[in-house]
Amino acid sequence: MRVELVMIGTELLLGEIIDTNASKMALALRDIGVDIYYKTTVGDNEQRITDVLNLALDRSDAVITSGGIGPTVDDMTRQCVANATGRKLVYSTDLERQIAARFRSFGREMADNNKRQAYIPEGATPIENPVGTAPCFLSEDVTGRGFVIVLPGVPRELTHQLEHAVIPILTDRMGGAKVTRVRVLRTCAVGESSVDRLIGDLMTESNPTVGLAAHIGQTDVRIAAKADTEDEADRLIAPVEEELRKRLGVAIYGVGKETVVESVAGLLRARGLKISIVDTITDGRIARDFEESGFSDVVESHTETDLDTVRSNPTTDGEELAKTLANGNAALNLVLVGPMENRSTYVAVRGADGIDLSRKSRNYQDSDHIRRWLATQALDWVRRGLLGQLTSPAD
Ligand code: ATP
Ligand code: MG
Repeated sequence: MRVELVMIGTELLLGEIIDTNASKMALALRDIGVDIYYKTTVGDNEQRITDVLNLALDRSDAVITSGGIGPTVDDMTRQCVANATGRKLVYSTDLERQIAARFRSFGREMADNNKRQAYIPEGATPIENPVGTAPCFLSEDVTGRGFVIVLPGVPRELTHQLEHAVIPILTDRMGGAKVTRVRVLRTCAVGESSVDRLIGDLMTESNPTVGLAAHIGQTDVRIAAKADTEDEADRLIAPVEEELRKRLGVAIYGVGKETVVESVAGLLRARGLKISIVDTITDGRIARDFEESGFSDVVESHTETDLDTVRSNPTTDGEELAKTLANGNAALNLVLVGPMENRSTYVAVRGADGIDLSRKSRNYQDSDHIRRWLATQALDWVRRGLLGQLTSPAD
């Protein structure tokens, strides 16, 4: 089933509030195997909302709206859905009673403008809203193009309606519980565009689908399969995963929510090794990440120091400096120094099994983003060193 989202509200359109509702709905619908091809954001304007709903009904089986069902004049979703589904807006005394009862339940009188909320398209099915006063409803298009489900904008109410009304309705209409299984392969230190080049052809398939999500210094490759059962979905994913692993090789460091720190710590533990860290760049982020993920035991020592102290070393050459400092006594030494003159930073990894790498990066900028990026990159070199694969086709 193809479902389209229509997010209503000028404040959303102008970026004054973040559209958390759309992301919540899309994730929930994805999980029950619904196809979402379009999401539109539209301001509080009757003509434009009606146009968007008409377009959505033309190309999708169902439309879900969020927002614009309050009691004020700028809440016009009811009218627009009536327009688009070809129905008159009619007053429901039944709904009026429900709204009034809800107000009474928290000791208030229903104001006159709340009566606006008792109008729904003729023939529409009201959907009870036990967490708010605005009634939700489902309106079928008179010409048979599908139906529109109307939900509130208030996130707490929307979340409730999504779980208790929308998902049951859609599951029912799809005739059974189809599932979507998602497997995320996490890659490190290969840019999104390189990943795209290596696996782009696999991203045009439809079941499973393969998609990318870029994070700082990392790219996630997401495989999603739809089937009648979880086992069947897993069987669709397996060969695609195998192919992705063949192409991306050592760049894949983990699955699901695994972090680079966890992956490195796992390798160190398995080998009974400890790491010593000298870090003038990330404010101790790397050591802290080990600690906060419960892996203090793999850290032999960590020194976060300022550059002046580091520079009091006889050499002022960044690369030499990194190498010298990396000659510690621990089984494995990781050093990040910089920024040196001309905004260079140096990372050295030295120790067990002849691991000996030093790399220079240019154009350091004093930003959290860059520091995170450097930390992730450095940890990835440690990881590849431990795997005996400091270079790879995906490098
Ligand atoms: P109300 O009865 O409060 O008028 P409504 O259904 O008409 O509810 P809106 O007026 O569009 O909904 O939005 C109510 C509040 O919910 C907004 O002020 C905003 O903070 C929040 N909201 C609306 N849409 C979204 C959205 N897509 N994502 C996150 N928050 C939203
Ligand atoms: Mg409103």
